[in-house]
Amino acid sequence: MADISRLPAPTADQYDWQFEGACRGEDPEAFFHPEGERGPSRAQREAKAKAICATCPVIAACAAHALSVREPYGIWGGMSEDDRELIYARQKARRNIAIA
Ligand code: SF4
Repeated sequence: MADISRLPAPTADQYDWQFEGACRGEDPEAFFHPEGERGPSRAQREAKAKAICATCPVIAACAAHALSVREPYGIWGGMSEDDRELIYARQKARRNIAIA
C-alpha cells in the first residue's frame, strides 16, 4: 500500500501532469500486474508499459511522484516495482556510506 503521508497536498497543480500522460486511454492492465503474474508474461507486460512511458511527455514528473510516495505497485515513470526497489536500495546504500 502506498504511504499517503508522503503525498503532496491534494491540489490540482500537484497532479496536472497526469492529464498529459501517454497512458491515458491505455489499458491499465498493461501497467499493473495481475495476481500471481511471473516470468515472461510479466516481462512482456512491463515492456509494453515501459514502451508507452518512453513516449510520455511527463515521464520525469511521473517518476518523481512514484519515487517520492514510494508507489508500491505498477509501472510509473518507466519504472517497474523492481526498478524502484533497486533505486531505493541504492539510495539507502549511499546514505549509509555518507553516515559511516
Ligand atoms: S510515465 Fe508512464 S505511467 Fe507515467 S504518466 Fe507517462 S505513460 Fe503514464
